[in-house]
Amino acid sequence: MTTPTPSYDLVIRNGTLVTAGAVYPADVAIDGQQIAAIGQDLRGRQEIDATGQYVIPGAIDGHVHLGMPIGRFTSTDDFFHGTRAAAFGGTTAIVDFVETGPDETMLAALAARQRVAAEAVIDYGLHMTIGPLDIARLDQVAAARAAGCGSFKLYMAYGLRLTDDQLLLALEAVRDAAALAVVHAENWAIITALIGRNIAAGRTTPHWHPRSRPEALEGEAAGRVIDIAAYAGARLHIFHVSCAAVVARIAAAKARGLPVTGETCPQYLYLTDAVYDRPGVAGALPVCSPPLRPAAEGRALWAALRDGALDLVTTDHCPFTAEEKATGLDDFSHIPGGVPSIESRLALVYAGLVGDSDAPDPTALRRWVDVCATTPARVFGFARKGQLLPGYDADIVLFDPRRPFTVSPSSLHETAGWTPYDGLNLPGWPATTISRGQVLVANGQWLGAPGQGRFVAR
Ligand code: MN
Ligand code: MN
Repeated sequence: MTTPTPSYDLVIRNGTLVTAGAVYPADVAIDGQQIAAIGQDLRGRQEIDATGQYVIPGAIDGHVHLGMPIGRFTSTDDFFHGTRAAAFGGTTAIVDFVETGPDETMLAALAARQRVAAEAVIDYGLHMTIGPLDIARLDQVAAARAAGCGSFKLYMAYGLRLTDDQLLLALEAVRDAAALAVVHAENWAIITALIGRNIAAGRTTPHWHPRSRPEALEGEAAGRVIDIAAYAGARLHIFHVSCAAVVARIAAAKARGLPVTGETCPQYLYLTDAVYDRPGVAGALPVCSPPLRPAAEGRALWAALRDGALDLVTTDHCPFTAEEKATGLDDFSHIPGGVPSIESRLALVYAGLVGDSDAPDPTALRRWVDVCATTPARVFGFARKGQLLPGYDADIVLFDPRRPFTVSPSSLHETAGWTPYDGLNLPGWPATTISRGQVLVANGQWLGAPGQGRFVAR
């Protein structure tokens, strides 16, 4: 005879579930790697008491650069350290990138990147980059799509940038593969001209970084690629929106009924361009592109996140050490670009959207989960993640709204040695992180092991 009490592998008891759709008390039962049941008084062979905590689907960060080579340097967090930091912060899936070499097929590049990612502790996907050399081999897009690259990265800036006619060809190929195009939208020709003008005039400090990459031209580039994608009939996602000029283009595209989504990142929500005026390397650390903007832009981004003009929050996590950042102190355009936030994103967005009230607005709570987990799962194609429902992956986070956390390099598990949020006090922080039924972090204690994460075909 079996025991009369249904017994699951693991039950999370007494918590408050927060999903994109509802806030309600319930238990969550897990069998193996999946959610088995949501209900009352569920019992398990192992149980976790979630009294006073929010039980949410694990957060998804659709834009990270782990072990990313840029020029002479490589971003500091490799797949093990980066995904472990993500797990401590309540993120249970990421999407990183893969680029082909000059004579490399997309499938070979994908396999090579999966070997680099072998020590990931949480699940991951990969955006396949379509660079200028890939335009001659767009017939490989279908194979990359079939191998699980549900999204393709297009650059309008840097060495991998595509011209407008190349953007059209790439977007048509992405459309034909029924995939998603994700794009870095800035006007590279004008940025190049402004950088050249400023450096030639001796304007070499980080102060001139945002002044070489104007808001209006980020908006122009976003509007241009939106129109090209609309002509091609391709699904489009705009990366790292830094300003209201881009929000306006995305909102207009949505009003036209176009399949366009947009993300912003914690740095654009929390930081302003004033940080570039800090003396010495402190002004170089927060160099990222698009650049940080005046405070009014950040307020517009929070509003857009609340009202739906922006769909989700990623990090664009791409940290470099202070020593590496300092190599560009005599020319801001040589500073390796990127900032860290893979660990703090979920708590930063919580603090901004929900706040520290003892009776938080349920609408704000639902929106927090929506922009950090549920909509990212839908947009980036994680079919079994982002929701608390039977049959979904048991990627679950217990977020404690009364676990104050002071952000600092020593309180985080990121490896850059600095954080742009140093000293910031947050009202809540994840206590426990579960990835496909495995407890990776329990009350702040690391229980995971390298290689537990899997590549997810999207
Ligand atoms: Mn970018
Ligand atoms: Mn990026």
